[in-house]
Amino acid sequence: MTTSDDYKALESKYYMQVVNRMPPVLVRGEGTRVFDNDGKSYLDFTAGWAVLNIGHNHPAVTEAIRDQAGKILQMSNLFYTTPQLPLAKILIDNSDVDRVFFCNSGAEANEGACKVARKWGKTKLDGAYEIITTFDSFHGRTQAMMAATGQPAYQEKWTPLMPGFVNVAYNDVQAIKDAYVEGRTCAVMLEPIQGEGGVNIPSENYLKDVMDFCHEKNILFMLDEVQTGMGRIGTLFGYQQFTGVEPDVMTLAKALGSGAPLGAFLTKEFCSVLEPGDHGSTFGGNALTTAAGAAAAKVIVDENIPELAKETGAYFQGKLNGLAEKYDFITEVRGMGLLIALQMNKEIAGATVTAALPEGLLINAVRPNMIRFMPPLNATRDEIDEAIAILDKVLAVTGA
Ligand SMILES: *Cc1c(COP(=O)(O)O)cnc(C)c1O
Repeated sequence: MTTSDDYKALESKYYMQVVNRMPPVLVRGEGTRVFDNDGKSYLDFTAGWAVLNIGHNHPAVTEAIRDQAGKILQMSNLFYTTPQLPLAKILIDNSDVDRVFFCNSGAEANEGACKVARKWGKTKLDGAYEIITTFDSFHGRTQAMMAATGQPAYQEKWTPLMPGFVNVAYNDVQAIKDAYVEGRTCAVMLEPIQGEGGVNIPSENYLKDVMDFCHEKNILFMLDEVQTGMGRIGTLFGYQQFTGVEPDVMTLAKALGSGAPLGAFLTKEFCSVLEPGDHGSTFGGNALTTAAGAAAAKVIVDENIPELAKETGAYFQGKLNGLAEKYDFITEVRGMGLLIALQMNKEIAGATVTAALPEGLLINAVRPNMIRFMPPLNATRDEIDEAIAILDKVLAVTGA
């Protein structure tokens, strides 16, 4: 049998070393649990990075993939394909956008959205091309999305950055107004809640005020819902948490394929400016990934999984607040639905994540002093309780 150490030796020999991996070699998942090569079980509160919103190996998704694999996996987009249709219908019937283009990842979805914005600028705004994004955002790892992502760590090694992006403060409408230049600015792109930036929730009117400003200037209001979409924060799409907010362009990925690599950008009819030849993707709308996505989206909508995320999230936050009362180094618990961060005044997030592993809990240190939780949205209260008990035990040591 290949042991975990064998796997690790092969990994270090063959793979580009672009990530410091956690020790477990994970081989199987089921619901909220994953199992390593030695048979040890973990509660997975990272969920494939906010991807497995209905858990590992959901039977509806597994069945859809099996079924589609026996029919057809891939064909050119030059031909009509059917598996993407039910997914397109669910997304559009349950949102305020009108048309969808399927791609393969979050970065690609945002690239597509930015192409829509650039074309909008070129054809409607005298060649305006610049897109305003925010500090502490995360939009992906392509050349252009590194420029969009307002975090020095993702930018400094890759200068000169792709032109056409300007980063301003998040949750500051005036900063966007100040950055706007007539004839140069074509769009604003924001996350409804910043995920990788540390679960930053904007004030209640921020998105609405930015949207109103965009419409006043005839520039596009674009929301990156790659992490917040598909139920994670308590509504099918994150923007639905904020009264009166509707994006002109919205992007999805992560949970969209429930583990199959699938992204999408969606637009309102008025700014659906891409024409034949303007954009394309060999794998975009792939039969296998969209079949998985359609099955997952059906479960999320039919079983009202977003509402479950809201209720379980409130329960989880209540329990975390209990820990905050016990440990005074916890300074804040914040989040919406099941995207939650625990802020501390000590840089012990990494140590806590490491110490939680042997106890059977997978969590993320999103900042040195901050832990992020993004469990499956159908995690049970017993599983939440179990995670809280582990955290309690671990924080007593790492925080001491
Ligand atoms: C993860 C993420 C992306 C990038 O998605 P990839 O599939 O890794 O390219 C973009 N935007 C947000 C908000 C994300 O959380």
